[in-house]
Amino acid sequence: MIGNIIRRYLFVAAAVAAAAALILLFVLHSENDLLIGAIGSIAVLFYGLGNLQVTRSQNRRILELKRQAEKLRNADFGERLSAESGDALGELATVFNDMRDKLRLTTISRDYVDSILAGMNDAIIVTSNEGRIKLANPATQHLLGYEEGELTDMPIDFVVDSEKSGSLLAHPASGVPREAYFESKYGESIPVSYTSSTLDGKGAEPGDRIFAAQNITERRRAEKRIRYLARIDSLTKVPNRMQFQHLLQRAIARARRAERSVCLLYLDVDRFKDINDTFGHLAGDTTLETVAGRLAAALPENSIIGRLAGDEFAVIVDSGVVERLKRRDIEKLAQKVLDRLADPFFVQGHEVFMTASMGIAYYPRDAANVIDLIRNADAALYHSKRSGGNVFSWYTPKMNVAAVERLMTKSKLKRAFERDELLVHYQPKYDLETGEVFGAEALVRWELPERGMILPSDFIPIAEETNLIIEIGEWVLDKVCEDFRYWQQSVSSPGRVSVNLSLKQLRQPKFSQRIGGVLRSYEVSPTSLELEITETTLMEDPKRTIKLLDQLYALGLHLAIDDFGTGYSSLSALQQFPISTLKIDRSFIHDVATNPDDATIVSTIVQMGRNLNMDVVAEGVENEDQLALLQRLGCTYVQGLLFGDPMSSDSYLELLLAQVNGTDTHRALFA
Ligand code: C2E
Ligand code: MG
Ligand code: MG
Repeated sequence: MIGNIIRRYLFVAAAVAAAAALILLFVLHSENDLLIGAIGSIAVLFYGLGNLQVTRSQNRRILELKRQAEKLRNADFGERLSAESGDALGELATVFNDMRDKLRLTTISRDYVDSILAGMNDAIIVTSNEGRIKLANPATQHLLGYEEGELTDMPIDFVVDSEKSGSLLAHPASGVPREAYFESKYGESIPVSYTSSTLDGKGAEPGDRIFAAQNITERRRAEKRIRYLARIDSLTKVPNRMQFQHLLQRAIARARRAERSVCLLYLDVDRFKDINDTFGHLAGDTTLETVAGRLAAALPENSIIGRLAGDEFAVIVDSGVVERLKRRDIEKLAQKVLDRLADPFFVQGHEVFMTASMGIAYYPRDAANVIDLIRNADAALYHSKRSGGNVFSWYTPKMNVAAVERLMTKSKLKRAFERDELLVHYQPKYDLETGEVFGAEALVRWELPERGMILPSDFIPIAEETNLIIEIGEWVLDKVCEDFRYWQQSVSSPGRVSVNLSLKQLRQPKFSQRIGGVLRSYEVSPTSLELEITETTLMEDPKRTIKLLDQLYALGLHLAIDDFGTGYSSLSALQQFPISTLKIDRSFIHDVATNPDDATIVSTIVQMGRNLNMDVVAEGVENEDQLALLQRLGCTYVQGLLFGDPMSSDSYLELLLAQVNGTDTHRALFA
């Protein structure tokens, strides 16, 4: 009896130990270990059973237990056993059920994890303490071209391109992504981004690590492309401004160490705008490509060429290119470049004659850093331009001031326009015979918060260069129409308002329709508006301009020649245009009362205008002597500082109202 009891408890203990061993084995080891463990445990169970003295019903229960155990051996979880009776077999059934449930749960979660790993796009590798691969998911095999199991037990660095990446184990595990190169079975180097962490959960062994890696070949390719696009000018394939500055920076650093010089040549195509305007943008692009090609051909190998903006190019000449940067050698090189650029070439069947201007500055003599060197070379370039182009100039400190202003304006102008910092002022025009306000000229202004009012002569030429002039022109026209409408609410006739027009605006497609549309939308009569076009603009492409002006004239608009006398137009040339007003440039008015020559010129212009049936306006009238003389010469209208500064829209309205009320103080000047 006692022996039976002892045997029963021994058996239960053996069964519990077996189950525990089985679970432990499962959790800690691979599938093979699990199977061996399960078989071992079942053997222990049956050893215990064999030692039991059994009844028939017990026999049935034992057979059922055996059947379920066999199922379990075949990876079938079968059913739970009845564990109702409290005898040894009941306890055995309870232990068995427990073991079955745990085994089932662990198997399910293991399958679950396996299916997750199999479904992952990231390559997952688990390594042991020694850095040997314990597990590699299908994505790893796919990435590296290995078969299942081939990587097991290999050192992790076996899959790493050691030349490019070194050892993966050299870096402590961290969630921070790092980059490395893996090497495929076929020796292909694959860039990856990976994270690694230590595994310290249930079942992990000390030192186990998990690596999760992503193939970043595509990302690398995209980055390379972006870097290329960010650094190379897409049209000419030479470094762009950013990259050029970077290269110049490096050249200066090298020169500083070696106590040598760096020479910067800054170039700009002369009248590039004309090539663009005449032959179109495609021809402009071809020209720029030609410039880049010719620069490369004319310069020594290793010279660095960059495109800094539109038609601006620059070249770095340092001791890597020309051994000794003697002034005479640089001059020879500069002349060679200019000569090479001046060779005519063909664009769309047209022979194009192109020249360029150049500015040259030296590091360290002219500037100590990149920005100053570029700026000073640009100042020298500007000097070459002003000397008529097709020449080079060396930088001298005198040139700097103007260039700083120019650069500053260029970058700020676009922002100013977007920020609504532009305004329109009005300069009244007086009828010389009656002394009445006849109308006004709209003049754009730029109010810079830290610098005050900037006049158009300082920014219109830049706006012309950047095409911003079209937007500015449209905005001015809109503003003028808006103001006109506002004045009309208080006075019946605000007079004739003139607006300055640039060639670019005039050449816009459907310009006359556009302007007609604006006038209609503000309900302003075309006869209230006058467009001022400079003499030089008119003569740029007379045939084309006549057509455009005819369309505007047909709308009912007045047209005026601005700054007359500064161009070279002949009388017969002027007669072709539908012009009704001639504005004498203020340079002739300035000394008209004191210089007989100027008086003769003005008198001739007035006569000529009258013969052509035109109104003649004298600009820039500053004093009463000028006014009196112009009256005598029979000029029609005057405008100028004699009547005050150009004024705001509100002030102009006040002036119109004063005139209606007979309180305009300027009227007395005409008596
Ligand atoms: P502009 O059309 O010949 O305008 C006359 C210029 O002479 C104005 O200069 C005016 O302020 C100035 N002025 C008038 N009376 C006197 C005077 O008695 N003495 C002196 N010394 N100057 C006087 P501003 O406003 O600087 O404009 C310069 C030029 O900028 C204008 O010359 C015009 O060609 C251009 N401009 C002005 N506004 C616009 C615009 O909206 N669009 C375009 N495309 N050009 C504009
Ligand atoms: Mg004008
Ligand atoms: Mg003018």
